[in-house]
Amino acid sequence: NSSLHELDPDVAAAVDAELHRQQSTLEMIASENFAPVAVMEAQGSVLTNKYAEGYPGRRYYGGCEHVDVVEQIAIDRIKALFGAEAANVQPHSGAQANAAAMFALLNPGDTILGLNLAHGGHLTHGMKINFSGKLYNVVAYHVDEQTNRVDMEEVERLAKEHRPKLIVAGWSAYPRQLDFAAFRRIADEVGAYLMVDMAHFAGLVAAGLHPSPVPHAHVVTTTTHKTLGGPRGGVILSTADLAKKINSAVFPGQQGGPLEHVIAAKAVSFKVAASEEFKERQQRTLEGAKILAERLVQPDVAEAGVSVLSGGTDVHLVLVDLRNSELDGQQAEDRLHEVGITVNRNAIPNDPRPPMITSGLRIGTPALATRGFQTEDFREVADIIAEALKPGFDAEALRGRVTALAAKHPLYPGLK
Ligand code: PLP
Repeated sequence: NSSLHELDPDVAAAVDAELHRQQSTLEMIASENFAPVAVMEAQGSVLTNKYAEGYPGRRYYGGCEHVDVVEQIAIDRIKALFGAEAANVQPHSGAQANAAAMFALLNPGDTILGLNLAHGGHLTHGMKINFSGKLYNVVAYHVDEQTNRVDMEEVERLAKEHRPKLIVAGWSAYPRQLDFAAFRRIADEVGAYLMVDMAHFAGLVAAGLHPSPVPHAHVVTTTTHKTLGGPRGGVILSTADLAKKINSAVFPGQQGGPLEHVIAAKAVSFKVAASEEFKERQQRTLEGAKILAERLVQPDVAEAGVSVLSGGTDVHLVLVDLRNSELDGQQAEDRLHEVGITVNRNAIPNDPRPPMITSGLRIGTPALATRGFQTEDFREVADIIAEALKPGFDAEALRGRVTALAAKHPLYPGLK
């Protein structure tokens, strides 16, 4: 019964260092967030010890009376949060949720239509060496070269030409909203299922600040750790008639024992996501992204060859286009890292550079909003980023400004 520090000082030291990194730098990776302490407490609980193959009330193991309660709470809460008819809270991750949803609806060799990876789609939407690209026949749609918005005419044309069994709407790097009704109309025209992967924007939907895909899609998948702000994990929402198929695709189709400790943590985060405080946080998330986009289209930044894809944002992230900058994606990521801001380089549509270098940055505001950033703080961080992307930047001065912002909004003050 030793503590982590006593039993394993090596791992403990790395965990401590990671806490310090999170506390002392500014996290702007668009897919990241800070889970509440209560969520981490549930995730670190004795529920990790329990095997519970099956579903509440129908388990293949004894002793499931308490995890049944937890899993049912999680299911009920997320159904209520998104107005869904059915929910499966067992997928270990977003990728597993997508794998299970596709496993439920498709046979190997079936055609899927998804957003191209370099245009903002996710690996699981049909990338060549992902399971989705290997198991299914993938047709990809793109963003329009001029507007950088999903080209719905192309979606319709490709759907009619290839008659996919599944259309995937959703993205990992796209700064605008999708037209779910239009996707559904196209899916209906060709007899396809519509699956929306709302992993990135689920928190905005929960807060009522982004259109919900739930009334339009047959299946909606999500992660629980991005804008939704919970533990790492996945969820599948569906219409009632698909629930049985989805459940058996998750277990026994794709997974064995569910992670009941993570499901407990999901349940806690769904409670948080239904609160007024959560809504207010999502409002600041959106406002922060808008402030950032507005700063990064100012003339001083434009002069350095930096611009914003699609000219702005409707969501929690901004995509920075560095094609005309002296910096490539890797160099820009490194430069921000040097001043204490963590972002990720990201391929942009028609990127001339290879995927490990790229010509773009993806910058998101969810974690800073969770940390308590207000309008003036987002203005300051936007200005720091703008200055860092210009030639002749002063790393030391910018690092000082970052440190001041981090100190102004202490993260996990109770943890050491
Ligand atoms: N779907 C989308 C749209 C994502 O952006 C991601 C993660 O980046 C995933 C699915 C996969 O989630 P996970 O990393 O939990 O497997």
